Amino acid sequence: MDLAVEQHSFWKPGRKSAPGFAEQCRQLTEARAEFDWLRAGSIIVQQQALKDFAQAMANFFARTHKRPAWRKRGQGEGFRIVAVKAGDVRRLSRNVGEVRIPKVGWVRFRWSRAVPEGAKSFRVTRDRAGRWFVAFAAIPEPIPAPGTGEVAGVDRGVAVSAAVSTGELLPAPTLRDSEKARLLRLLRKLARAGRGSNRRGRVNAAIAKLKARESDRRKDWAEKTSTGLARRFDVIAVEDLKVRNMTRSARGTIEAPGRNVRAKAGLNRGILAAGWGLLVTRLEQKAPGRVVKVSPAYTSLRCSVCGIVDREARESQAVFRCRSCGYAANADVNAARNIRDIAAGHAVKARGGDRDAGPVNREPQLVLLSV
Ligand SMILES: [Zn+2]
Repeated sequence: MDLAVEQHSFWKPGRKSAPGFAEQCRQLTEARAEFDWLRAGSIIVQQQALKDFAQAMANFFARTHKRPAWRKRGQGEGFRIVAVKAGDVRRLSRNVGEVRIPKVGWVRFRWSRAVPEGAKSFRVTRDRAGRWFVAFAAIPEPIPAPGTGEVAGVDRGVAVSAAVSTGELLPAPTLRDSEKARLLRLLRKLARAGRGSNRRGRVNAAIAKLKARESDRRKDWAEKTSTGLARRFDVIAVEDLKVRNMTRSARGTIEAPGRNVRAKAGLNRGILAAGWGLLVTRLEQKAPGRVVKVSPAYTSLRCSVCGIVDREARESQAVFRCRSCGYAANADVNAARNIRDIAAGHAVKARGGDRDAGPVNREPQLVLLSV
């Protein structure tokens, strides 16, 4: 089956590596002009691909995302199908389902999650390990607030993935020690493998498999953690931090090319490993209107007990010790308490107002396709 999907990769407007920006625009125009030729494939798939591309361009001009890149093999491969009818998805048995893909036909997948009622679109993607997924666009059901009035602050930590103002530390699972050791061995092997050799391909596949495993665990963690927080607290406060922007800045800007690149690269790995972005996305979906984003200014330097901002208080990455009142705590928990307190203040001001939940991100749930 995965061949059937792979054959349909011809809808992609181009496969040149890293063309210039003007070149990309030209190629897009050409791709549209040559729609007759492209018509050989599924029109729905092509239209969606172009639409996605146009959106990526719009995001680039709005400076919220990086410039869209041409898809590389093994990276971001996939397509979107819209106008899905009720009969296009059916369940064959407890664990097996079938979905109709235009021009491909019926494709089986492992029914690993409930397919949402009335899903209007789905996306077929391939991860780095070469696994195909079908993802039905669905917003997770909102979880009712407990009604206790309790506000929780959650801080994105580096030492831990997330710290809660209650003092809980929520470490996202990563690879086990034995898996990390295997990954290191594979990376060393890769360095020795000749370019384009079969061995290199095998090593790469094994590395991708391990990384996919880590990513699966992180996604699972984000689902469970967001559900737990949405159930337990009426309001969940997080830092208003654009994780994307932070990670991008490590490469440097025109004004400050590559400043602190190495240190930041290390920090960024930590942030990304923590799966923070996905956690916040899921929180906003499961607790719509109950997630408050606060300015992160001083949240890591202010004592959550006496309120003094002290640059020396952060003894280490992990420990906060206030020199005024003697309060000592996990540094991420201290920050989470500040975040909670800021949000509680905001909540009072916002009472009676219409604090809107903002647009809900239609982050799809992934379902593994069988091959
Ligand atoms: Zn203090």
